[in-house]
Amino acid sequence: MSGGDMAKPLLGHQITEGDPSIAPAAGRTIGVLGSGDFARSLAIRLVCSGFKVVVGSRNPKRKAGLFPSAAEVTFQVEAVKKTDVIFVAVFREHYSTLCGLADLLAGKILVDVSNNTEINHHKESNAEYLASLFPACTVVKGFNVVSAWTLQSGARDGNKQVLICSNNQEAKRTVAEIAQAMGFTPVDMGCMSSACEIENIPLRLLPAWKIPIFLALGLFLCFFTYNLVRQVIHPYIREQKNKFYKIPVEVVNTTLPCVAYVMLSLVYLPGVLAACSQLYYGTKYRRFPDWLDQWLQHRKQIGLLSFFCAALHAVYSLCLPMRRSHRYQLIETAIKQAVEKKMNIWVEEEVWRMEIYISVGIIALGLLSLLAISSLPSIANSLNWREFSFIQSTLGFIALVISTLHTLTYGWSRAFDENQYKFYLPPTYTLTLLVPCAVILAKVVFNLPCIQQRLLRIRRGWEKGRYVKFVLPSATGEYSSGETSSNV
Ligand code: NAP
Repeated sequence: MSGGDMAKPLLGHQITEGDPSIAPAAGRTIGVLGSGDFARSLAIRLVCSGFKVVVGSRNPKRKAGLFPSAAEVTFQVEAVKKTDVIFVAVFREHYSTLCGLADLLAGKILVDVSNNTEINHHKESNAEYLASLFPACTVVKGFNVVSAWTLQSGARDGNKQVLICSNNQEAKRTVAEIAQAMGFTPVDMGCMSSACEIENIPLRLLPAWKIPIFLALGLFLCFFTYNLVRQVIHPYIREQKNKFYKIPVEVVNTTLPCVAYVMLSLVYLPGVLAACSQLYYGTKYRRFPDWLDQWLQHRKQIGLLSFFCAALHAVYSLCLPMRRSHRYQLIETAIKQAVEKKMNIWVEEEVWRMEIYISVGIIALGLLSLLAISSLPSIANSLNWREFSFIQSTLGFIALVISTLHTLTYGWSRAFDENQYKFYLPPTYTLTLLVPCAVILAKVVFNLPCIQQRLLRIRRGWEKGRYVKFVLPSATGEYSSGETSSNV
């Protein structure tokens, strides 16, 4: 599965809350084999959801105190006898120790909740292995994507989806009922061959973040090297000045806003490219190339990383005056002025420039925070489509424009000062402006009435050069049909 796939809803057919074929399950007795973290959380959750719970342990006396008093903690044999649905909350390597219970378990539903420590660790999935050990049982894979913590804290605080698969529809439905009664959303993943995929899900490390993180790191590296050459290497080579102390704070702090600003523009650039493609081909039904699809799917992560860099830039900037080097420079400047008997060093233009760029920067950061907060699932779910689109699209674009103002007021006239071209390299801010300005310009062009109208028509299904059937009423009141080009 590609990284972008994780941005999609977690697969398959959701057995939704409104499904009338799912009968209420609460009240029935559920068995749990094992008395560890998962078994304990599961038992608490089942009891809270109205189930009777019987826990099977090798040492019930010792473990009983860890469970809610409503749950019965007994020997494995006793627990298995009392129920038809049993959660196996035991690690795969201990499945074989349960083989002595095989006769008692025959005909019952076993829910395999186990996870592995590595992706595709074993040839067959844990659930298939369990099924091979207990051929007279019906095995259902499920609940492994839910942590013990989520089970205890409630579905609202964690992932609500419970992925389920089994070769037996009836058993799958029974487990889905239980999941639903516990407040989770059961998702039917099909037959047992999906178990391996379900077991791999909790082991994936930020699959949707890989591309955005590499992008951010790549940009950081490029801008860092560029700034290092301009701010440290150039003075060292040309003036033999040691400015290496600037690397940890100043160079990083001039790099972070570059990354944040370019990343923010990269959130909106794929939308521009998609619109260009739709305008060029005159249809919205043509698939975008894969790279553009992937890019569109990663916009949220790219935006959040942009916010992260912007927030770091704000903290770094606030800390600049705390540095000892800064204090030395201030004192040095003051001494120089005293020696030169300069009384007034106030430069009105510089004062205004700084006041404006700081204020504009704060507003941009505020807007980025709003975008980041509204992309959290709990907030995004509480917004309707128009509200979400207004925040992410309109406010996001305004954030890009304000960030551009921040960059321009920071740079001011430096681009026209030849002293700023170190080794003929232009000031960094001029480079960062390229992509964002192109995006802003494209957005302005798309808002021209003639282009906006065409784009709107395309997005409502109109296609260039495609003939559409029309039906006209004739003078006699009858209808006549014909064909015309929708281009006309
Ligand atoms: P755990 O705390 O180590 O508990 C495992 C339990 O297995 C023990 O308490 C033990 O209970 C029982 N067991 C039965 N036969 C055993 C044997 N021969 N040797 C050792 N223990 C034996 O582990 P856990 O975190 O609850 O995880 C249990 C299962 O849930 C695992 O398959 C895990 O992958 C899965 N899971 C856990 C989480 C989580 O957040 N913890 C999340 C998803 C899935 P008795 O001593 O009472 O028999």
